[in-house]
Amino acid sequence: MTHSVCLLPGGRAATASSSSSFSAEPLTLGVMGGGQLGRMFVHAAQTMGYFTAVLDPDAQSPAGRVSHRHFQTDYTDPEGLKQLAACSAAITTEFENVPAPALRELAKLRPVSPGADAVAIAQDRAAEKAHFVKCGVPCAPYAVIESADQLAAALSQNLLPGILKTARMGYDGQGQVRVKNSAALRAAWQELKNVPCVLEKMLPLSLECSVILARGRDGQMVNFPVQRNLHREGILAVTEVYEGHLPEALQQQAVTAARAIAEGLNYVGVLCVEFFLLQDGSMVVNEIAPRPHNSGHYTLDACDQSQFNLQVRTLVGLPLTQPRQHSPAIMLNLLGDVWFDAKGEMRLPDWSAVLALPGTHLHLYGKTEARKGRKMGHLNVTGASAQEVRDVALKAAAILGLEAF
Ligand code: ATP
Ligand code: MG
Repeated sequence: MTHSVCLLPGGRAATASSSSSFSAEPLTLGVMGGGQLGRMFVHAAQTMGYFTAVLDPDAQSPAGRVSHRHFQTDYTDPEGLKQLAACSAAITTEFENVPAPALRELAKLRPVSPGADAVAIAQDRAAEKAHFVKCGVPCAPYAVIESADQLAAALSQNLLPGILKTARMGYDGQGQVRVKNSAALRAAWQELKNVPCVLEKMLPLSLECSVILARGRDGQMVNFPVQRNLHREGILAVTEVYEGHLPEALQQQAVTAARAIAEGLNYVGVLCVEFFLLQDGSMVVNEIAPRPHNSGHYTLDACDQSQFNLQVRTLVGLPLTQPRQHSPAIMLNLLGDVWFDAKGEMRLPDWSAVLALPGTHLHLYGKTEARKGRKMGHLNVTGASAQEVRDVALKAAAILGLEAF
């Protein structure tokens, strides 16, 4: 089903000819998934006057709790999907492991973005890497391992030391094993229950960065500045975006590659493309996320529109304008670890001390239980200069017991 839509905020009349049947009742926008990304999408949609509906099985889901409607069913439940489609004018998704067939079903009834085909590629590292190759964007040397024969063949491809990653359902470094030699590779594949995997060569990284872009149904594309990211134990810890944080040529290269990847997917929505910069100065793409991304959270406070505003715009078919960063920014990811002191006792982080620092913006996701490694929120720091932002962010990190960067 092809949908040509402009689902305007503030009412139901989408064309001049239908003005006689105008109703000021807000349209509802649906989202598959109720995590923090869904919550921030819901906030952005509501700011523009839309009602929202969330489908997520969890009664306590961060987005479900702040949405007008929450369908508490499984992502593949036909009744739940029917109800979501019935009340939503258009539907988006907030996590990449939402089953692609469910998006296909919804797309028979309503505009859905990003589309199931693009999401399906992002869900499968083998398909994702094949897409990079097709677009002419270099990625780490790799081999697909789905059988013992393929594993044996991979041993002659100079991919060790490497990282064995499950092809599907990986996130935050889950489903990954670092392997040094062939015995370790065999053991790792067994440990991962012999599921389809990708073996990637371990690359000497000098830094990591990402690009977030938005692409409309008409192919129009806009992008945020390139983010510089620091990961700890496979999880994003710090994002920095300010003048001089990355060489200009590298930024250009990353943006050009990200745009080619989106174009090749005929992508609609907000897309994040993650890159590695290697010690020899070359750049390779790591992976894509078919949704807003935590490396884009600084846009909430440092840009004239956030990644979630752009997700709303692409979904409803509103015009896209190139976002402008108005303040240097640093984002600190707040994992549940911050709720524990050095002795392992639970404590409330000292928000008063953090918020006494100028230019700090606290975002908590409304999760009821803090667990180590769980994303609980983030702290954005904005200021007049990169130096000021770095000073404040380092003070905030020290108060919260986070490592300096
Ligand atoms: P997320 O979904 O949080 O982005 P993920 O589970 O999909 O994570 P990756 O992005 O594949 O995992 O890897 C997590 C981190 O591990 C990377 O950000 C990087 O720091 C490191 N890493 C992954 N692949 C390689 C590689 N080939 N060489 C060196 N480091 C790597
Ligand atoms: Mg990643």
